[in-house]
Amino acid sequence: MRILLFGSPGVGKGTQAKILSSKLNIPHISTGDILRQAIKDKTKLDKKTQETMNAGELIPDDIMIEIIKDTFFRRGCRNGFILDGFPRTTVQAEELEKLIEELALSNVVVVAITAPEDEIIKRLANRLTCKVCKSIFSKDELENVTVCPKCGAENSFYIRKDDSEEVIKNRINVFNENTKPVLDFYKGKREVIFINGNDSVEKVNEKILEELKMYSVNNN
Ligand code: AMP
Repeated sequence: MRILLFGSPGVGKGTQAKILSSKLNIPHISTGDILRQAIKDKTKLDKKTQETMNAGELIPDDIMIEIIKDTFFRRGCRNGFILDGFPRTTVQAEELEKLIEELALSNVVVVAITAPEDEIIKRLANRLTCKVCKSIFSKDELENVTVCPKCGAENSFYIRKDDSEEVIKNRINVFNENTKPVLDFYKGKREVIFINGNDSVEKVNEKILEELKMYSVNNN
Protein backbone atom coordinates (compact mmCIF):
# COMPACT_ATOMS: atom_id res chain seq x y z
CA MET A 1 0.00 0.00 0.00
CA ARG A 2 1.25 3.48 -0.91
CA ILE A 3 -0.36 6.33 0.95
CA LEU A 4 -0.10 10.01 0.09
CA LEU A 5 -1.16 11.71 3.31
CA PHE A 6 -2.68 15.06 2.48
CA GLY A 7 -3.84 17.87 4.75
CA SER A 8 -3.05 21.27 6.15
CA PRO A 9 -0.26 21.81 8.69
CA GLY A 10 -1.47 20.75 12.14
CA VAL A 11 -4.23 18.47 10.91
CA GLY A 12 -2.47 15.43 12.38
CA LYS A 13 -0.63 13.98 9.37
CA GLY A 14 2.62 13.35 11.27
CA THR A 15 0.91 11.67 14.20
CA GLN A 16 -1.26 9.48 11.98
CA ALA A 17 1.65 8.63 9.68
CA LYS A 18 3.70 7.32 12.60
CA ILE A 19 0.87 5.07 13.82
CA LEU A 20 0.06 3.82 10.32
CA SER A 21 3.72 3.14 9.64
CA SER A 22 3.97 0.90 12.69
CA LYS A 23 0.59 -0.84 12.16
CA LEU A 24 1.04 -1.44 8.42
CA ASN A 25 4.79 -1.95 8.64
CA ILE A 26 5.67 0.46 5.84
CA PRO A 27 8.12 3.38 6.02
CA HIS A 28 6.98 6.88 7.00
CA ILE A 29 8.56 9.50 4.80
CA SER A 30 8.15 13.01 6.17
CA THR A 31 9.73 15.67 3.95
CA GLY A 32 9.64 18.13 6.89
CA ASP A 33 11.66 15.69 9.03
CA ILE A 34 14.11 15.05 6.16
CA LEU A 35 14.69 18.81 5.79
CA ARG A 36 15.07 19.37 9.55
CA GLN A 37 17.60 16.51 9.68
CA ALA A 38 19.52 17.94 6.71
CA ILE A 39 19.76 21.30 8.49
CA LYS A 40 20.96 19.58 11.67
CA ASP A 41 23.57 17.64 9.68
CA LYS A 42 24.71 20.93 8.11
CA THR A 43 24.38 19.72 4.52
CA LYS A 44 24.41 22.16 1.61
CA LEU A 45 20.72 22.75 2.36
CA ASP A 46 21.25 24.42 5.69
CA LYS A 47 20.99 28.24 6.00
CA LYS A 48 18.57 29.27 3.25
CA THR A 49 16.41 26.19 3.85
CA GLN A 50 16.23 26.96 7.55
CA GLU A 51 15.14 30.56 6.86
CA THR A 52 12.48 29.43 4.39
CA MET A 53 11.10 26.85 6.82
CA ASN A 54 11.16 29.25 9.76
CA ALA A 55 9.06 31.68 7.70
CA GLY A 56 6.55 28.95 6.81
CA GLU A 57 7.31 29.24 3.08
CA LEU A 58 7.84 26.34 0.69
CA ILE A 59 11.24 24.97 -0.34
CA PRO A 60 11.65 25.14 -4.16
CA ASP A 61 10.09 22.26 -6.11
CA ASP A 62 13.35 21.11 -7.77
CA ILE A 63 15.03 20.60 -4.38
CA MET A 64 12.02 18.71 -2.99
CA ILE A 65 11.73 16.46 -6.06
CA GLU A 66 15.43 15.59 -5.78
CA ILE A 67 14.94 14.71 -2.09
CA ILE A 68 11.97 12.44 -2.86
CA LYS A 69 13.76 10.64 -5.70
CA ASP A 70 16.80 10.10 -3.52
CA THR A 71 14.67 8.85 -0.59
CA PHE A 72 12.69 6.44 -2.77
CA PHE A 73 15.86 4.86 -4.07
CA ARG A 74 17.72 4.81 -0.76
CA ARG A 75 14.93 3.60 1.52
CA GLY A 76 13.66 0.83 -0.73
CA CYS A 77 10.11 2.08 -0.89
CA ARG A 78 9.03 -0.52 -3.42
CA ASN A 79 6.96 -2.41 -0.85
CA GLY A 80 4.99 0.59 0.28
CA PHE A 81 5.27 3.96 1.98
CA ILE A 82 3.40 6.74 3.72
CA LEU A 83 4.31 10.06 2.24
CA ASP A 84 3.72 12.92 4.70
CA GLY A 85 4.19 16.49 3.47
CA PHE A 86 4.72 15.73 -0.22
CA PRO A 87 3.42 16.71 -2.74
CA ARG A 88 2.73 20.27 -1.63
CA THR A 89 2.37 21.82 -5.11
CA THR A 90 0.88 20.58 -8.38
CA VAL A 91 4.38 20.58 -9.94
CA GLN A 92 5.50 18.17 -7.18
CA ALA A 93 2.37 16.05 -7.78
CA GLU A 94 3.11 15.86 -11.51
CA GLU A 95 6.71 14.82 -10.87
CA LEU A 96 5.59 12.23 -8.33
CA GLU A 97 3.19 10.74 -10.89
CA LYS A 98 6.11 10.38 -13.33
CA LEU A 99 8.18 8.64 -10.66
CA ILE A 100 5.32 6.30 -9.76
CA GLU A 101 4.98 5.36 -13.42
CA GLU A 102 8.73 4.94 -13.87
CA LEU A 103 8.96 2.60 -10.88
CA ALA A 104 5.67 0.85 -11.84
CA LEU A 105 4.22 1.37 -8.36
CA SER A 106 0.62 0.26 -7.77
CA ASN A 107 -1.96 0.69 -4.97
CA VAL A 108 -1.36 4.42 -4.56
CA VAL A 109 -4.11 6.13 -2.58
CA VAL A 110 -4.53 9.72 -1.36
CA VAL A 111 -5.75 10.07 2.24
CA ALA A 112 -6.91 13.66 2.81
CA ILE A 113 -7.39 14.64 6.46
CA THR A 114 -9.55 17.71 7.08
CA ALA A 115 -10.30 19.90 10.13
CA PRO A 116 -11.69 23.41 10.65
CA GLU A 117 -9.10 26.19 10.41
CA ASP A 118 -9.64 27.50 13.98
CA GLU A 119 -9.02 23.99 15.35
CA ILE A 120 -5.81 23.72 13.31
CA ILE A 121 -4.50 27.07 14.57
CA LYS A 122 -5.25 26.01 18.15
CA ARG A 123 -3.43 22.69 17.72
CA LEU A 124 -0.32 24.22 16.14
CA ALA A 125 -0.05 26.91 18.81
CA ASN A 126 -0.32 24.20 21.49
CA ARG A 127 2.19 21.78 19.96
CA LEU A 128 5.40 20.32 21.42
CA THR A 129 7.70 17.98 19.49
CA CYS A 130 10.18 15.43 20.86
CA LYS A 131 13.52 16.18 19.21
CA VAL A 132 14.59 12.52 19.55
CA CYS A 133 11.63 10.48 18.20
CA LYS A 134 9.80 13.44 16.54
CA SER A 135 6.53 12.51 18.25
CA ILE A 136 4.04 15.35 18.55
CA PHE A 137 2.19 16.24 21.76
CA SER A 138 -0.02 19.02 23.03
CA LYS A 139 1.28 21.26 25.84
CA ASP A 140 -1.71 20.18 27.96
CA GLU A 141 -0.74 16.51 27.68
CA LEU A 142 2.78 17.24 28.87
CA GLU A 143 2.08 19.44 31.87
CA ASN A 144 4.72 18.49 34.51
CA VAL A 145 6.10 15.75 32.21
CA THR A 146 9.84 15.78 31.46
CA VAL A 147 10.30 12.34 29.87
CA CYS A 148 8.96 11.63 26.38
CA PRO A 149 6.06 9.14 26.74
CA LYS A 150 6.98 7.60 23.36
CA CYS A 151 10.76 7.15 23.46
CA GLY A 152 11.77 7.91 27.07
CA ALA A 153 14.15 10.76 26.16
CA GLU A 154 14.58 13.33 28.93
CA ASN A 155 13.86 17.03 28.43
CA SER A 156 13.56 16.54 24.70
CA PHE A 157 10.47 18.67 24.00
CA TYR A 158 10.72 21.82 21.92
CA ILE A 159 8.46 24.28 20.13
CA ARG A 160 9.13 24.34 16.40
CA LYS A 161 10.16 27.83 15.18
CA ASP A 162 7.39 27.68 12.58
CA ASP A 163 4.75 27.03 15.27
CA SER A 164 4.72 30.71 16.30
CA GLU A 165 1.40 32.56 15.80
CA GLU A 166 2.55 34.69 12.85
CA VAL A 167 4.20 31.82 10.99
CA ILE A 168 1.22 29.52 11.61
CA LYS A 169 -0.99 32.02 9.75
CA ASN A 170 1.47 32.13 6.86
CA ARG A 171 1.69 28.33 6.68
CA ILE A 172 -2.08 28.11 6.43
CA ASN A 173 -2.14 30.75 3.68
CA VAL A 174 0.60 28.88 1.82
CA PHE A 175 -1.43 25.67 2.18
CA ASN A 176 -4.62 27.29 0.86
CA GLU A 177 -2.83 28.87 -2.07
CA ASN A 178 -0.30 26.24 -3.15
CA THR A 179 -1.23 22.89 -1.65
CA LYS A 180 -5.05 22.75 -1.77
CA PRO A 181 -5.01 22.70 -5.60
CA VAL A 182 -3.10 19.38 -5.40
CA LEU A 183 -6.43 17.72 -4.50
CA ASP A 184 -7.98 18.97 -7.76
CA PHE A 185 -4.99 17.51 -9.57
CA TYR A 186 -5.75 14.07 -8.12
CA LYS A 187 -9.50 14.23 -8.86
CA GLY A 188 -10.22 11.58 -11.48
CA LYS A 189 -6.60 10.40 -11.40
CA ARG A 190 -6.35 8.66 -8.05
CA GLU A 191 -8.67 7.44 -5.33
CA VAL A 192 -9.00 10.18 -2.69
CA ILE A 193 -10.24 9.12 0.75
CA PHE A 194 -11.49 12.03 2.89
CA ILE A 195 -11.15 11.70 6.66
CA ASN A 196 -12.58 14.08 9.24
CA GLY A 197 -9.56 14.81 11.44
CA ASN A 198 -11.50 16.71 14.08
CA ASP A 199 -11.61 13.78 16.48
CA SER A 200 -9.28 11.91 18.85
CA VAL A 201 -6.04 10.47 17.43
CA GLU A 202 -7.36 6.93 18.01
CA LYS A 203 -10.73 7.56 16.29
CA VAL A 204 -9.09 9.22 13.29
CA ASN A 205 -6.70 6.31 12.99
CA GLU A 206 -9.52 3.78 13.17
CA LYS A 207 -11.39 5.61 10.40
CA ILE A 208 -8.31 5.68 8.16
CA LEU A 209 -7.64 1.96 8.65
CA GLU A 210 -11.29 1.13 7.95
CA GLU A 211 -11.25 3.12 4.72
CA LEU A 212 -7.94 1.59 3.65
CA LYS A 213 -9.35 -1.88 4.25
CA MET A 214 -12.32 -1.09 2.00
CA TYR A 215 -9.97 0.33 -0.61
CA SER A 216 -7.89 -2.89 -0.54
CA VAL A 217 -10.97 -5.11 -0.84
CA ASN A 218 -12.26 -3.10 -3.81
CA ASN A 219 -8.90 -2.95 -5.55
CA ASN A 220 -7.59 -6.49 -5.21
P1 AMP B 1 6.16 19.89 7.90
O1 AMP B 1 7.04 19.25 8.91
O2 AMP B 1 5.54 18.92 6.93
O3 AMP B 1 5.14 20.82 8.51
O4 AMP B 1 7.12 20.82 6.99
C1 AMP B 1 7.83 21.89 7.57
C2 AMP B 1 8.34 22.83 6.49
O5 AMP B 1 9.23 22.12 5.60
C3 AMP B 1 7.28 23.43 5.55
O6 AMP B 1 6.64 24.54 6.12
C4 AMP B 1 8.14 23.80 4.35
O7 AMP B 1 8.93 24.96 4.61
C5 AMP B 1 9.11 22.62 4.27
N1 AMP B 1 8.57 21.52 3.42
C6 AMP B 1 8.26 20.26 3.81
N2 AMP B 1 7.79 19.53 2.78
C7 AMP B 1 7.80 20.35 1.70
C8 AMP B 1 7.42 20.20 0.34
N3 AMP B 1 6.93 19.05 -0.13
N4 AMP B 1 7.58 21.27 -0.48
C9 AMP B 1 8.08 22.44 -0.04
N5 AMP B 1 8.45 22.66 1.23
C10 AMP B 1 8.32 21.63 2.11
